[in-house]
Amino acid sequence: MVLQDLGKRLNTAINSLTQQSAIDEQALDAVLKSVCAALLESDVNVLLVKRLRDKVKGKVLPQLEEIQAKQGQDADAMQGNKAKQIIQKAIYDELVALVDPGDAAPPAFNPVKGKTQVIMMVGLQGAGKTTTCTKLATHYQRRGLKVALVCADTFRAGAFDQLKQNATKAKVPFFGSYTETDPVSISLQGVTKFRSERFDVIIVDTSGRHRQESELFDEMRQIQDAVEPNMVVLVLDGAIGQAAEAQSRAFKEASNFGAIIVTKLDGHAKGGGAISAVAATNTPIIFIGTGEHLHDLEKFSPQPFISKMLGMGDMQGLVERAQEMALANPERQEKMMKKLEKGEFTVRDLKDQLATVMGMCVAGSFLRSSRSTAFELLTGKCRAYAYRGPLSNLASMIPGMSEMMGGGGEEDVSRRMKRVAFIFDSMTTEELDSDGSLFRDSVPSAKGKEKEKDEEKDPSNPMGLREPNKRVLRVARGSGTSVQEVEELLAQHQMFAKMAKRMGGKNGLMGKLAARG
Ligand code: GDP
Repeated sequence: MVLQDLGKRLNTAINSLTQQSAIDEQALDAVLKSVCAALLESDVNVLLVKRLRDKVKGKVLPQLEEIQAKQGQDADAMQGNKAKQIIQKAIYDELVALVDPGDAAPPAFNPVKGKTQVIMMVGLQGAGKTTTCTKLATHYQRRGLKVALVCADTFRAGAFDQLKQNATKAKVPFFGSYTETDPVSISLQGVTKFRSERFDVIIVDTSGRHRQESELFDEMRQIQDAVEPNMVVLVLDGAIGQAAEAQSRAFKEASNFGAIIVTKLDGHAKGGGAISAVAATNTPIIFIGTGEHLHDLEKFSPQPFISKMLGMGDMQGLVERAQEMALANPERQEKMMKKLEKGEFTVRDLKDQLATVMGMCVAGSFLRSSRSTAFELLTGKCRAYAYRGPLSNLASMIPGMSEMMGGGGEEDVSRRMKRVAFIFDSMTTEELDSDGSLFRDSVPSAKGKEKEKDEEKDPSNPMGLREPNKRVLRVARGSGTSVQEVEELLAQHQMFAKMAKRMGGKNGLMGKLAARG
């Protein structure tokens, strides 16, 4: 089961509680059974799944008993809701714990300007090391650090050419050799050169093998002794399934890596196996690879990852993208701050943001805007940095956005985005520049109040069902969509407008971000 499907299955299992009338041990067992089945199908290690089930039960059962004892004192429904929340929270916390080594993790790695740090990448051939080296270099470069790459992979023919090509594309200085066959000597030469040139981050790409074998591990140890890296990173293919545990343990023994990057989580990788490597080695995942392109690298943090997987959005991810954007374009940041401080977010703002999100992912499609950041959704019209990932990736970072897009594959999402664009195209300038309230106010029809009175008595509408706002009706007809679609979009606008307000001002997220510089 791929990660997206796992998220949906977990979500359905957790939400199934809402339909249950009695919340007792039986209901808890039923939810846990579905959650565990979904995790096992995604290749999460069976012992970890069992541990999750036991921990949730251990946490929840005593609280359920307490609630049952109280029943009768308070309204049953209230106690039922409380029980559901307790179960949902316990499952969420244990899912987070699955991907969080907690205190056992080695200290976090945060390269800074003016202090050379060496990162050595290890992993089997094909895991995605060379690709990830350049992605990582780009990531640190975007944060204003001076980064260089060293190719110590002399095993795979063409490895240096690949790194050279990627590095040139990313405009990252590199070092390697076509003639030198000793990886230890090359890595030492490269690291010494870039150290003397005061680079902040030097990333060493080592060779892999098809299998774990002693030669590979000997070579890794020798390079490690020679270049004395500040951080060794294991690159794990997200698709390796249950083999991940043994593989990560073997690498841990040989190189004592301090962090993991899981690649290929964009495709059909189940991911659960690689995730189990965290528990097997007490080592955190620091990034995940979500595509073959330079920018397809996402920072990994346990809570946002689980929230995003469960369709709850990833505010932290959005803030990070905003931070990148702010670094790249301070004047835009200023403009956006002013807008947010005023708490403004018009319907046109939502239109523009969705257009750029779409433009980022499907360049040259129905909307003209080209490249920008995901965070434009909340912030303005900055064109500083291109996000080039699948549309659904981006949508999943924004709370409520995945529901708005209704999930599904790339084609479904982009089809729905087009319908949304048709809706905006059917709005008038006045409507677009409004805060959306025009669509909520009742708009008197041509016959005015008289008609409304008639409608009250309308025998064809004895239930007195609400008539859609006339503007909503017009927009739906004009765009060839339904009233429900238009109303959903307007509701989404309201949600973003509220979020924009919350993020604005000195105490909002954007204010804090600005304060951090
Ligand atoms: P190495 O042998 O470990 O250096 O692996 P490479 O960097 O050469 O990557 C092997 C293949 O995996 C290449 O075709 C990459 O384009 C691909 N790849 C690496 N990372 C990702 C990722 O996050 N997503 C996808 N879809 N492909 C990836």
